[in-house]
Amino acid sequence: MSLGQVFETRRRIGRSTSRSIWSLVGAILLSMTQACNGSNGSADGPSQGHEDRDFAYERARMVQLQLESRGIHDERVLSAMRKVLRHRFAPDLDPVKAYEDRPHPIGNAQTISQPYIVALMSELAQVEPPCRVLEIGTGSGYQAAVLAEMGCEVYTIEIIDALADRSREILEAEGYGARVHGRFGDGYRGWPEEAPFDAVVVTAAAPRVPEPLLEQLRVGGRLVIPVGNLWQSLEVHLRTNEGFEREQISDVRFVPMMGEVRE
Ligand code: SAH
Repeated sequence: MSLGQVFETRRRIGRSTSRSIWSLVGAILLSMTQACNGSNGSADGPSQGHEDRDFAYERARMVQLQLESRGIHDERVLSAMRKVLRHRFAPDLDPVKAYEDRPHPIGNAQTISQPYIVALMSELAQVEPPCRVLEIGTGSGYQAAVLAEMGCEVYTIEIIDALADRSREILEAEGYGARVHGRFGDGYRGWPEEAPFDAVVVTAAAPRVPEPLLEQLRVGGRLVIPVGNLWQSLEVHLRTNEGFEREQISDVRFVPMMGEVRE
């Protein structure tokens, strides 16, 4: 695997051992069910006859085996990810594959993040309605849709115009047009007109933390950001009355943040 977010599950290894056994049992039972149903989830090309399905089964399975079993417990995150039609945000992909435990290419050398990473970042943001969230790196629009489904007003910036356009169309078609406000441009300087935010979520790896994004947090707000170059650390910066508290969460691998942050 090269680009994209390859996540190491180091963080939760200790307390997930017994859960892993149950999720393994679950995985075996579910794959037996899938085999009996004749699902063509392993097909290479786009599957036929899927157009009228909404893939609720694949989403339930994704939430149980990829998220809950790895310790994601925020019910708002879990229920949002059961609802958002992830396959619609990667329209060139076989819809069943969109629910796999990995990132996928979405064109322009970018990716739709692995479901676990979307869930982890959404949970780390610690937001509840009425929340205002800034996302840097709209990409497919999926992370923005999950935050909107959690009840937040989402402001999202994308530096590649083709992706900004396509994600806007998909977000509108999926019913998130009113709650997700998209903009084409470099997210380095954030969206000061709409600040302060309860959370800022950066979905591309920055060699350093952009100062303007910290400034646009309210007190008590959190910046969730992968920091580094080839190998990166997912960090949370909490704004307090006195300044900022930084927490390192885990090793991650994201596509690089471009633009002014590289200057
Ligand atoms: N959140 C996305 C994942 C996107 S991958 C999803 O759910 O699908 C990272 C995205 O960040 C890419 O689309 C990339 O073009 C964008 N990006 C990189 N640098 C950026 C910058 N400086 N400002 C805004 N977007 C940026």
